[in-house]
Amino acid sequence: MIPARNYRASIVITGSELLDGRVLDTNSNFLAKQCSQLGLTLRGIYTCDDGIDEIKRCLEFAAQGVELVIVSGGLGPTSDDLTRDALAALAGQPLYQDPQVLERLIERYRKRGRTFDPSNARQALFPQTAQILANSVGTAAGFALEFGAPIRTVFISLPGVPRELYAMWSEVVLPLLEQRFGKLTAIPTICFQTFGLPESNVGSRVEGCALPESVKVSYRAAFPEVHVSLSSTAITQTELAQHAQAAMEAVGSEFVFSRQAGQGLAQLLHALLVQRKQTLAVAESCSAGLLASSLAEIAGASEFLVGGTIAYANHVKTKALGVPVQLLEQYGAVSAEVASQMARAAREYHQADFGISITGVAGPGGGTSEKPVGLFYVGIADAAGGLRAVRYFFPNTRSYVRRYAVHCAMDVLRRHLLGLPAPKEAPLSVDTPVLSAARS
Ligand code: ATP
Ligand code: MG
Repeated sequence: MIPARNYRASIVITGSELLDGRVLDTNSNFLAKQCSQLGLTLRGIYTCDDGIDEIKRCLEFAAQGVELVIVSGGLGPTSDDLTRDALAALAGQPLYQDPQVLERLIERYRKRGRTFDPSNARQALFPQTAQILANSVGTAAGFALEFGAPIRTVFISLPGVPRELYAMWSEVVLPLLEQRFGKLTAIPTICFQTFGLPESNVGSRVEGCALPESVKVSYRAAFPEVHVSLSSTAITQTELAQHAQAAMEAVGSEFVFSRQAGQGLAQLLHALLVQRKQTLAVAESCSAGLLASSLAEIAGASEFLVGGTIAYANHVKTKALGVPVQLLEQYGAVSAEVASQMARAAREYHQADFGISITGVAGPGGGTSEKPVGLFYVGIADAAGGLRAVRYFFPNTRSYVRRYAVHCAMDVLRRHLLGLPAPKEAPLSVDTPVLSAARS
C-alpha cells in the first residue's frame, strides 16, 4: 500500500475551444488547487483537442506513473464529445447504455418541457466497468474507471462546464477518492511572505541555509511581494518549523513581514494598528488615493484609518496640507523635504498618530534627469515629532510604480511600528535609496 501522501495525479483538459483561446481554462486551476489540498503530487496538466486520437494519446501520456487522472470535458451529447469513447477504447471496453441514467435524462427533458433529441442518449453511455458519478447540476453524468498496468490508474471523467465540475468534485469525487485512497490530507507546508528583496535574492538566501533535500521550497513572486513555502512529507511539523525559521532568518527578519498565508502588508498594518489602538492618516500625490484604498480594502479599516488628502497639484500641497511654497520651489514636489511635510500635515490635519505620504514621478511623462520616472519619496511622521523620508527609485510602468510606492509606504510604517531599521535596500530598483533627514 502506498502511503497516502505519495499518490500522484495528472489532469487532462479537453476541448478545442481551450486550444484556440476562445475559453480560458479555469478547471485545471481549480483541480490543481484541490489536488494540492489533498496532498496529491500533481505530475502534469495536459490540454488536448477534441479528436478521439488526441484524447487517447493525451490520456496515455498523462497516465504514466500516476495513480489518478482527472479528465475535464467532452461528456456532452455532440459529435465532439468523445471522452467516454477514448477512455473505453483505452481500457479495451465496449460502451453500454445505462437505463437508469437514460431514464433520468429523458425525465429531465420532460420536466423542462424540452424535446429529447435521440443524440442526447449518448450521455447515458459508459465504459463497461465504469462507476457512474451523478451530476446534480447538469445533464452529463461523469464516471470513474480503473485500469492499467503496472500501475492501476483511476480515471475520473467530469463535465467541462465549471459549475458542474465544482459541484461534482465535492459531492461525488471527494468521497470516491477517500474510499479508494484513504484519508487524504494536505502536505505539511509553512509559508512566509517577504517584501524588500528581489525574488532571486530571497532564493539565494534561502538556498544558503542548506535545507535538507526532503524539504521542497517554492517561491511565488506576487508583485511586489515574494512568497516562500516549505513543504515536506518526510519530516515532522516541528522539524519543518525549525527549517522555516532558519530560512526566515537567512532572508532576514526585517524582510519577512508575515508568516500567515494570505496576510498581505495591508492586513498586517491593520492588525498592528488596531492592536495598538493607533491611527493613521495619509497624504498622497502620485499614488492619488491608492494607499488609502489598499488599506480600506480590508473590512474594519475605519478602526485605524482616519482619513487622507490627495494632494496631486502643488497648490493642493500648499493650501490643503500647508507645505510651504518656498519648500516646493527650493526642493521640488518630489523631494524628501516635501514628503516629510506632507506626512506631518496629514497627521496633524487628520488628527492621527501617524502620517504617511507618497510623492513621486509615476510617468510615463514628467521625468527629468534629476527627477526621473520611478523616483518617489515616502514620508512618515509620528506623534513624538519624529519626521523622516525615504527615497526610492523604481523605474517601471506607471501602474507598477504606483503599486510599488504604496507597498513601500506600508513597509516604512511597518518597520517604524516594529522598531526595525528603515529600508536599506531598494529591492526591485537599480538605485539604493538613501534615508534622508528632513530639513524643515
Ligand atoms: P456539455 O455537456 O455541456 O457539453 P462537456 O463535458 O462536453 O459538457 P465541454 O463541451 O467540453 O463539456 O464544455 C462545455 C463548456 O464548459 C465550454 O463551452 C466552456 O465554456 C466550459 N469549459 C469547458 N472546459 C473548461 C475549462 N477547462 N475551463 C473553463 N471552462 C470550461
Ligand atoms: Mg460539450
